[in-house]
Amino acid sequence: MQCKILRIINNLQFIQTRYFSKQSVRVRFAPSPTGHLHLGGLRTALYNYLFARKNGGSFVLRIEDTDQTRLEPEAMIKLRDNLIWTGIIPDEDPVRGGPYGPYIQSKRLDIYKEQIEKLLKNGSAYYCFCSEHRLDLLRKEALKIRAKPKYDNRCRHLTEHEVKEKLSKHETYCIRFKISSEPIVYRDLVYGDATLIQQESDFVIMKADGYPTYHFANVVDDHLMKITHVLRGVEWQISTPKHIEIYNAFGWKPPHYAHLPLILNTDGSKLSKRQGDIRVESFREDGIFPLALLNYVTQAGGGFNREPGMITCWSYEELIKQFDITKINVNSSKLHFEHLLELNRMEIQNLLNDDNNAKLMVEKVRRLLIEAFPENANNGSLQLDDNHILTILKWAHNRMTRLNDLINKNLAFLWIMPDIESFDIDPKELQSLRVLKNELDTVNNSEFNHHMLNSYLKKFASDNKIHFPSFMKFLRKVLSGLDHGPSVAEMMDMLGKDKTLDRLNRFIR
Ligand SMILES: [Zn+2]
Repeated sequence: MQCKILRIINNLQFIQTRYFSKQSVRVRFAPSPTGHLHLGGLRTALYNYLFARKNGGSFVLRIEDTDQTRLEPEAMIKLRDNLIWTGIIPDEDPVRGGPYGPYIQSKRLDIYKEQIEKLLKNGSAYYCFCSEHRLDLLRKEALKIRAKPKYDNRCRHLTEHEVKEKLSKHETYCIRFKISSEPIVYRDLVYGDATLIQQESDFVIMKADGYPTYHFANVVDDHLMKITHVLRGVEWQISTPKHIEIYNAFGWKPPHYAHLPLILNTDGSKLSKRQGDIRVESFREDGIFPLALLNYVTQAGGGFNREPGMITCWSYEELIKQFDITKINVNSSKLHFEHLLELNRMEIQNLLNDDNNAKLMVEKVRRLLIEAFPENANNGSLQLDDNHILTILKWAHNRMTRLNDLINKNLAFLWIMPDIESFDIDPKELQSLRVLKNELDTVNNSEFNHHMLNSYLKKFASDNKIHFPSFMKFLRKVLSGLDHGPSVAEMMDMLGKDKTLDRLNRFIR
């Protein structure tokens, strides 16, 4: 019986794979380049990307810049750069190109004009010559009776002759779409079946300046770019009937829709209200690793085969494997910042476990140190050798959540060799130091840790009849040049056996 069920499941999976590969899944991420890539956008991009990879499909980056008033130059390049930094690499985009380009809407104006003609011809769209002044009056009248401002569809009823006459007089016009009064029925892959009735009046699809509006360009591009699935934020759900009506007017088949639930801040406020905190760029500058950030945004909203509340820093392969569109939640969920730090700590550990990645980490830390202590880098007192950095990284991997934690002022002694020129040397202390150094030399590397050193140093002081507190003060100064700081045992543990002996030797010599 079980065997039979398994076979059925396998067959279903086979059919599903066949279906998807036949139709070749194509998804897109379509931001407008008016601002930064933030966590909400990143989540949308990621889920589209994972869906494409899971089904052997393509992931397209398209820039929706038809709202020319809000355009920010350079923003597109920055946005793409940040996306690629996270490891979400588009198969087709404005820079790389692809078979369905251009991938920037402002370069597709001729395409929209051509498509608008089709709707004018088949009677789904019409010219509207209403002046701003008239529309303004309509708005004011509606407000007076506390109704929702609406266009009254007046130009829908212009005769062909009237339109021709106005066009010949070069009157300003926009193009409006005739909405139907029929309810729109569609299936949302996340929210299930939906029946929506259009609340609005005929909406503009091409503005007076010849630019298409968002809804029109979006539909035309999705169709011409052969997009099969649209995964986007739930805030777009309300626009879906509009989009489906445009598809219907063209006689095109709409894509499958999957709306993603809202992400909230820990306090329950809308994520977009704190723009500064949620830019991918700021996390990047703050020492967060790409996979930690990607796993962080998967913590809200579901979509994965994992226990609720479980924090895992999955690899790209694992994220693709575990992604399951049927597991996306409908309820909005909160992000907790402490999870991001925990994920980053896990990711640092993962990276250190791989030799090549560990090398890259060492290089990163080296760069951070040179930036943080430029004077010491110049006078050669900064300890930057691979071995030392790696030892510190391995010591710290459980204690830090960001690489930047390592350049903290309190830890500067790990990197900066103390200045011993100005030391007053007491011959008795120097003699004890020699004995201590020779004894420490015989300690096994694996035993050289904070606990062992703590009791060892106490015993050493009592065996040699040395005043413990003043000897520790002296040792701290020798090791770090500092009068205050962590305990000597801790310092030795952090430095590791080799660097500890080096620093003692340097002083003895
Ligand atoms: Zn009109």
